[in-house]
Formats: sequence, C-alpha cells, structure tokens
Amino acid sequence: MKPVVKIFIALIFIGSFASQFSSCSSCNNPNHVIVDTIKPKPVVTVHVPDFDADSSYKYCNDQVKFGPRIPGTKSQQQCAAYLEKMLNLYCDTVYVQKANVKVYDGSEKPMINLIGSINPKAKKRVLLLAHWDTRPWSDRDANGPKKQYDGADDGGSGVGILIECAKQFQKQKPNVGVDILFCDVEDYGPPEFETKWDEKDQYALGTQYWAKNPHTTNYRAFYGILLDMTGAVNARFPKEAFSMRYAPSVVNEFWNHAQSLGFGNYFVNESAGAITDDHYYVNTINGTPTIDIINLSAETKTGFAPHWHTQTDNMDLIDRTTMKAVGQTLLQMIYYEPGDENL
Ligand SMILES: [Zn+2]
Repeated sequence: MKPVVKIFIALIFIGSFASQFSSCSSCNNPNHVIVDTIKPKPVVTVHVPDFDADSSYKYCNDQVKFGPRIPGTKSQQQCAAYLEKMLNLYCDTVYVQKANVKVYDGSEKPMINLIGSINPKAKKRVLLLAHWDTRPWSDRDANGPKKQYDGADDGGSGVGILIECAKQFQKQKPNVGVDILFCDVEDYGPPEFETKWDEKDQYALGTQYWAKNPHTTNYRAFYGILLDMTGAVNARFPKEAFSMRYAPSVVNEFWNHAQSLGFGNYFVNESAGAITDDHYYVNTINGTPTIDIINLSAETKTGFAPHWHTQTDNMDLIDRTTMKAVGQTLLQMIYYEPGDENL
C-alpha cells in the first residue's frame, strides 16, 4: 500500500523529454536538436490516509454486540444511539430521520436514518451509504429459517467501513463534501417461508424514504457509493448491473483505483445481474448516479455469497483484509475527487 500516490511524474517526464529533444524541422537536419526552456510542471501529489482495518472491524463488532438490529427492537434503539454518537464524533453536521414505514405485511415499523455531513458548504458532494438494520429471519438457512442472526456482514461491515472513513475525513478533509447515510429497514422484505406477499419495492424502505425526503432541500450528489456485504473473507465484487446502467463511469473509476492498489482479486472485471438494493432507489428517485459494491458469487443459485441471510453471517467471517480493500479504495476515490472548482 502506498498512501502517497504520484501519478503524474511519469507523464511529466515523458512530456518534457519530448519537448526538449524534438528534432529541428526548419533546417531539415535530423541531428540538430532543439533544447527549449519550458520548466517542468510541479508534481501533483494526492495524499491518501491509511485506512485502519482494525478500527473498522471494531466498529462492525460494536454493532453486532447490540444484537440483531431489527426494526422495532431495543437493539435498534441502542445501535441508533451508537451510530449517532459516532457520526457526531467525526462529521460536521448530523441529521436523524425518524418515521414509521409500512413493511410487506402492512404493519408499521420504526425507521431511523442517520446522516453525517462532512464539508457541509461544499456544492460538489459524494454520497456514501450502507444499511444498518438486520433482517429479522435467517430465511436462507435450511437450519431454522425463522431464527435471527447477527448480520455482521449484511449491514454491519459496510457501516463499520464508513465510520472509519468518517474518522479519516475528519483528520484530513477531502476536496468534496461527503454525506454518509446509514439507512434503516433495508432488509424487511417478505421472508422466503411466506410466499403470499409481493416483493416489489418491499426492500430498502429507509432509502426510499430518504430519497423522497432528503436531509437537505433538493439534495443531489455528484455520485453515490453503496456498500453492502463488504467485509467477508474472500469477498468478490463484480460489476452489478444497475450500477453499470446508472453510473458506469463511477464503477470503472472505482475498479481502476482498486486494481491500482492491488485489490483486483476482490474487484473483479466481471459483470453480474441487477440487485434491487438501496442504490436502485437513490438512482431512480433521487437521481444521484450510484453504484453498489456487493459480495456476489458465481457459484450459488441465488447469486449472493453463501452466508447471505443465514446464521453463518457473524463475526467469524469478517476479515480485516477485505475491509481494507474496500475502505482503502474508497478513501483513494474520495481524495482524488476534485472539489467545487471542477464543477
Ligand atoms: Zn440482506
């Protein structure tokens, strides 16, 4: 890992070499060389802080210790208070949205969205989001599909990575404004063991609410990045189809940064099917071009990683190396982004 990146050195060297030693066209003598006096441009460096994977692991574990963060439970209330505290530590402005949302069976559940803004006055903004709720059932687990589970990866890991990013943004402000959205009630879609319910628009309820009621008037970011299931050992992040439909240049830029950092084994150059995740509603309701970084498998029937919605989604499968790959790439992407002057 190289926290200081000097990308322009090679280009400047080649450019100055060419201008200093171009042959003389006016006298037709190929050996006559013009040496001009153009001074080399200053080298532009971007300092990208080191993402601390140990911290992000701890922030993930902190959430898991509250128990499953199921809407309507005490664990939800306790974890919301923890997330609000962490955002207040590292962000300039914090917003909390509370509302009741109707879930698939018509019952109402309390929703708590938390938003932390960094550089609140910057016009050019990037939205980073992850859902923090836990699905109420491990309905993809053959052993006890009605049982609860920890949701360490499905919810916890993305939030843990974003808290660590917020900490770095506070120490070294990026050029752009950043808004971190911890969205609630993503995973309360109808369970597999109840087949009578319609799935359409039953997921990502917190993000649907936020997209219709953003934390500031007429909010729209330059682009958005969603993290979902981004902490498991040997994770694999192909290019998800809605991300490629709505924000292909953001996907490709992120994957290029990952590969430049040596994380090409995680961020594979493969396409994957469309996932109706939080980013779908940010794209279609809010209009911010937003990508989904999500662990998908080419070997499972569902297309998701094998621990998806099972009791094996616990801290045992959370891997600091995966969190480092995602978090360091995310930091590099944000710190490379020019600010308002490039709008
Ligand atoms: Zn889920």
